[in-house]
Amino acid sequence: MTLDFALQPTATPTADADRDAKLANPGFGRVFTDHMAVIRYDEAQGWHGATVMARSNFTLDPAAAVLHYAQEIFEGLKAYKRDDGGVNLFRPDANARRFQSSAQQMAMMPLPEALFIEAVEQIVRLDRAWVPGGDGSLYLRPFMLASEVFLGVKPSAEYIFAVIASPVGSYFKGGPAPVTIWLSENYTRASLGGTGAAKCGGNYAASLRAQAEATAHGCDQVVFLDAVERRYVEELGGMNIFFVFEDGSLLTPPLSGTILPGITRDSVITLARDAGMVVHEAPYAIEQWRADAASGRLKEAFACGTAAVISPIGTVRSAAGEFSINGGAAGPVAMGLRKTLVDIQYGRAPDPHGWVRKVI
Ligand SMILES: *Cc1c(COP(=O)(O)O)cnc(C)c1O
Repeated sequence: MTLDFALQPTATPTADADRDAKLANPGFGRVFTDHMAVIRYDEAQGWHGATVMARSNFTLDPAAAVLHYAQEIFEGLKAYKRDDGGVNLFRPDANARRFQSSAQQMAMMPLPEALFIEAVEQIVRLDRAWVPGGDGSLYLRPFMLASEVFLGVKPSAEYIFAVIASPVGSYFKGGPAPVTIWLSENYTRASLGGTGAAKCGGNYAASLRAQAEATAHGCDQVVFLDAVERRYVEELGGMNIFFVFEDGSLLTPPLSGTILPGITRDSVITLARDAGMVVHEAPYAIEQWRADAASGRLKEAFACGTAAVISPIGTVRSAAGEFSINGGAAGPVAMGLRKTLVDIQYGRAPDPHGWVRKVI
């Protein structure tokens, strides 16, 4: 399916000097580009009204379904500036498919893959001046919310899909610093039969209490265990997790329905296998993690996701005490995979799997 996007560029784009000042130190998620893309859905018209317009507030009826029953999903992907000045997207088709899967899990209307990609590309092309150079990138945030005006509990009959964009700097200045993570024993993130595999706002709302507990204990992130046995490592609040062993093999928890199928996770598995490493998708228990870190069988642990790419995990803290991995330092496997992945994203290395899409 295709739709022609009506173009309503902002009347007064941000002045070059203001934009450059913002791009010099964008941080994460507080600076936004000039435009957004919007597509609407209702039962009479289907997907319609595709528009690229000045970034502006939504008008929502106070009874809009999303405000009451949280039918909302989102995606996160990045545009990368190449050395030749062009701009790459990385696996946007995978984000489009995951967005459809999230919609199905939340009983929302799936957006056709071509519309998702076209909306993202429209914003990248129109706001190309906002794609930072160097190791920054333009973070794209497609999302969809239930807009039907009705307080009855049922799947909404109307939706708003939108794409906004936010320039982001290098997540870590001077290379990724190992993170300290908090082992959540009081809270879980997702259970079998629930929405753990959907990228929905509700999962994040439910993770904030655990994240606050992590912060209160001086940790950067929280790691969740499975909700049934409270034993098996699942993932962080917004990143998947990998373990590297002394025999050179990698392990990551399986996609059993309670963790988010990360595109970085999938890319890491593929790149590791390309490099001849053995990768297991298997459950890993917290007591095994402690024992393997102590014995030295475990060499590295790292978290991965679009925002931070790969973050080494230096220390795991819990009410019972803490333990370190690799002496709390970043390890060569995590750093090597990170470089391989980032070089493909920025177009500095061959792209054997056809993951890069040149938008400009
Ligand atoms: C988005 C997300 C990830 C990482 O997915 P990527 O596609 O690699 O960015 C991991 N876990 C959760 C809960 C997420 O929402």
